[in-house]
Amino acid sequence: MNLTNLTITKTHQGLINKDFSAVELTKAYLNKIKKEDKKIHSFLTISKDLAFSQAREIDKKISKKENIDLLAGIPSAIKDNIMVEDIRCTAASKILENYVASYNATVIEKLKKAGTVILGKTNLDEFAMGSSCENSAFGTTKNPCDLKRVTGGSSGGSAAAVAADLCGYALGSDTGGSIRLPASFCGVVGLKPTYGTVSRYGLIAFASSLDQIGPITKTIEDCKIVFDAISGWDEMDSTSVNSKFKIQNSKLQFKIENLRIGIPKEYFVKGMDKEVEKKIKKAIKKYEARGAKIIEVSLPHTEYALPVYYIISTSEASANLARYDGIRYGKSKVKKSRVKSLLDVYLENRGQGFGDEVKRRIMLGTYALSSGYYDAYYLKAQKVRTLIKQDFENVFKKVDVLLTPVSPTTAFKIGEKTDNPLTMYLSDIFTISVNLAGLPALSLPCGMVGKLSVGLQIIGKPFEEERILEIGKTLENILTS
Ligand code: GLN
Repeated sequence: MNLTNLTITKTHQGLINKDFSAVELTKAYLNKIKKEDKKIHSFLTISKDLAFSQAREIDKKISKKENIDLLAGIPSAIKDNIMVEDIRCTAASKILENYVASYNATVIEKLKKAGTVILGKTNLDEFAMGSSCENSAFGTTKNPCDLKRVTGGSSGGSAAAVAADLCGYALGSDTGGSIRLPASFCGVVGLKPTYGTVSRYGLIAFASSLDQIGPITKTIEDCKIVFDAISGWDEMDSTSVNSKFKIQNSKLQFKIENLRIGIPKEYFVKGMDKEVEKKIKKAIKKYEARGAKIIEVSLPHTEYALPVYYIISTSEASANLARYDGIRYGKSKVKKSRVKSLLDVYLENRGQGFGDEVKRRIMLGTYALSSGYYDAYYLKAQKVRTLIKQDFENVFKKVDVLLTPVSPTTAFKIGEKTDNPLTMYLSDIFTISVNLAGLPALSLPCGMVGKLSVGLQIIGKPFEEERILEIGKTLENILTS
């Protein structure tokens, strides 16, 4: 029996039926990682001892016939910007190469309580800044569908690990598309939850008004299980939202025949890959055939999303990353002979510790926030952000959800966009507005172009994760039946 390609529910069944033990399951995944991750490079750290101790706990519970949670014993992979106590947490940056997390992120606390097994930490673009996983200081993760291609980023390691069956599910983080883009490129499911739904406590901050943690999974059902486990109000995150919204919304009645689906015309633009467009349109047709009403809508400020995102996110990043001086986190690598003052220590550590993209963003953000430019850039961007949010509020008066592509192309070749940051930024064109507006959005596979997967994005109203997951399930059922 192949243990590593089962869904969470099937694995759970296998565990309680004693078809296999949690320790056997963990061994099967770790062996597969050992064999196959040399070529994919999805993991940065393997937490073998932690994984086995968690698995043994669950086996004990099963042998005592105790009830176990759905996630108990399920081997997971965690993006390396989410803290797991006593495990190295690098954010794929040299500046944190030796940093060991001193506490658990709230999502990890929750998963540990549920009994999940943590296999290790996955690769990402340094500090989650990137769209291809090529900005990692520790090497690029390769797309399991085609090893010459990128996984998408920044949660590339998590998406690749799920796609290659190197874990049962993974966690990623999404500031401008970092869960959805790699999920789309690797052919798996990814959910970016409503801002405030999942605690960010213990997530290494990139852009705090945009960052959200979310699941990357093999199926929509798995995605719902993980989302339910990690979401909820948390006193440790001041942007966390009280769960009463969720309870109200879970009562929503959903029927595909009554569904009004909006197709934003700004998301079908010239320059988009024709084959990708075909797959997306085919998926839309499937909903139409089931009785959903398809309505063309307009989000007129979409064209400003990219510049607004790159001003707001870099401004916030420049403030968030000011704490890395090489002294407080990780070990300073500065040679005593090279520094004369404290300032030299900072300059040396930050100069050596950060990669080019991170430096580029710190400079951009510092400039946008600097006196004399603040009003022209940061404040202006915040105002346009409000307009982008209002675009969504307006269309959600007429439709229940929006369907769009996740990306204008399938996974591109490794190295193809590294010389030109602007072409790389364009990969995020369909994902960033969702973060600016704080909305939930799902990426799910809707077809293949050659060996490569195409992702459909379902964008929902705030706190309507359940609804977009159900709508996604309808298509998943059609495509897999
Ligand atoms: N690709 C985007 C960026 O580089 C999004 C990253 C993310 O969502 N963390 O900023």
